Amino acid sequence: MGGFAKERGRMVERHLKARDISDPKVLAAMGKVRREVFIPEQFRINAYADRPLPIGEGQTISQPYIVALMTQALELKGGETVLEIGAGSGYAAAILGKIADQVFTIERHQPLADLARKTLKAEGIKNVTVICGDGTKGLEKEAPFDAIVATAAGPKVPETLKKQLKISGRLVVPVGGAGYFQRLIKITRTAEDKFEQADLGGVSFVPLIGEEGY
Ligand code: SAH
Repeated sequence: MGGFAKERGRMVERHLKARDISDPKVLAAMGKVRREVFIPEQFRINAYADRPLPIGEGQTISQPYIVALMTQALELKGGETVLEIGAGSGYAAAILGKIADQVFTIERHQPLADLARKTLKAEGIKNVTVICGDGTKGLEKEAPFDAIVATAAGPKVPETLKKQLKISGRLVVPVGGAGYFQRLIKITRTAEDKFEQADLGGVSFVPLIGEEGY
């Protein structure tokens, strides 16, 4: 595992710091969480390459830079309650859990949800709760959230998720047509009925499948 620690440090320097990731909390979290344990054994050798990797069920763990970019966009200072749609391997949730107080993450594939839960537990991460279901409906019973992030792309920003934000809460979600090219959209709820929108650039995600997705 010593080799992985060194590779992880190099990943933070080369793929994050050398680009536009500057939030010290995000850099610290990315330097701590062991990405290799969230990846199927046969692909672990590539754990610190800056690219997505297959995790089963036709899904992928996002590339480290994108996880860092999305986490940074959420502007977490510590103490927040965060919702993630698309737990997948649980890696991004683990990163969020290093910064926020409490993380809820929803995954529609039961085997992925079960494995993510198991990996997070084995890593001693106790503030992340994995739920199996359709994340496009959010998580009404734990709402409102300081921040919400979706790691799968829908045809539009799910209205339900916007409504589960606190005032001044942030929602980061990839939006675009079917296929694998989307825009990363950031919504800030500035008042009860007021939302500001920013475009953070082009991204490529698996589809968000559900009531307010595809
Ligand atoms: N954050 C993950 C990335 C997983 S890819 C990680 O760090 O590994 C996106 C995931 O979103 C996939 O596992 C997919 O099954 C899931 N997904 C797609 N639509 C969903 C929905 N409506 N609700 C919950 N999960 C969904």
